[in-house]
Amino acid sequence: MSTFPRSYPMSGGDDQHSYINNSSYQIAAINSVGEKTKQCIIEKLDLPLNSDPGTFRIADYGCSTGPNTFHVVQSIIDAVKFKQLEYNNEKSLMPLEFQVFFNDQPNNDFNTLFTTQPPSSELEYFSAGVPGSFHGQVLPRNTVHIGHTSYTTHWLSNVPEHVDDKNSPAWNKNYIQCNNSIEEVTKSYKVQFTKDMKLFLEARAEEIVPGGLMIVLGQCLPDGVPLFKTYQGILVDTIGDCLMDMAKSGLTSEEKIGLFTLPAYFPQFSELKTEIEKNRSFTIETMESVSHPLEDIPLSNQFLISMFRAILSTIIKEHFGEDVIDELFDRVAKKLAKYPIDFKVCEKNVTYFILLKRK
Ligand code: SAH
Repeated sequence: MSTFPRSYPMSGGDDQHSYINNSSYQIAAINSVGEKTKQCIIEKLDLPLNSDPGTFRIADYGCSTGPNTFHVVQSIIDAVKFKQLEYNNEKSLMPLEFQVFFNDQPNNDFNTLFTTQPPSSELEYFSAGVPGSFHGQVLPRNTVHIGHTSYTTHWLSNVPEHVDDKNSPAWNKNYIQCNNSIEEVTKSYKVQFTKDMKLFLEARAEEIVPGGLMIVLGQCLPDGVPLFKTYQGILVDTIGDCLMDMAKSGLTSEEKIGLFTLPAYFPQFSELKTEIEKNRSFTIETMESVSHPLEDIPLSNQFLISMFRAILSTIIKEHFGEDVIDELFDRVAKKLAKYPIDFKVCEKNVTYFILLKRK
């Protein structure tokens, strides 16, 4: 689950003028991080661009269906071109050719991605779709000059062991996520996250050329803060509560809920850093929290529901069936109207920006 309103197909505007609307929130996020991405590339990329390097290859891992991936890729290309010009006054220099690999799971809607891409007359790069899990290698060794991923690495390759097992101390009972309230559950999630992060970084180390960069953007928890204290945690727990209410009304069963847990884990900041440091193929050039330009503006219930519905519908449908969705999110809307989230008392999670360099 991405807990950040970026690429999800959200519809409708907000009904109260004191709230921001969906699209301005998304665009602000994309622009602010796009600038940071450019600056970091200009500062840290030291691949030789002054001789003809052939094709410059970029990969976006977990690209989804756009449009964010197009903005990101364009920012990267702009930065590389700027860097090449800045350090080369030779007018005769061959312009770089760019190739972009768009990676996501095989069931990603690559058709939408490629049909909504800017027209080829406007594109400055050659595109290729790369289906496959980024927990393994998806491209040949030494192929990529700059890799990028955003709001992806909290997705685990599997639901962690025992969290769906009624007889285990790590059983997640009536919760549908790791909200950090049951220690054994958190431990089990941590084990899975550690394994997945290791595989992700090892695969990128194979694919990225020495001196190449890997940009990782996403959300995590501040040190010492459990997920249930953030608005995202509260909202997903509310969805779980509404499922329980539906079980009481016979619309699903407690047994089914006991077997459902989201394969997503939000580490704390230093936990994430530790996992990255374990991989010896990269140096951490930058790891910092970045603020969302609109983070202090309250989000309306309508906005929150459309965002989380877009993120979680598919996975909820797979487990509980198509019919539960409308009823479930109606109930969530009613519950939030009755018990609104108090943003003033919620802890904020961290949006992080990481720049790694392949040794
Ligand atoms: N990067 C985009 C989309 C984030 S949504 C953005 O910032 O807007 C998360 C995406 O990660 C989804 O498209 C999901 O399919 C993809 N994803 C999750 N696990 C993955 C995996 N193991 N391999 C490849 N893609 C994955």
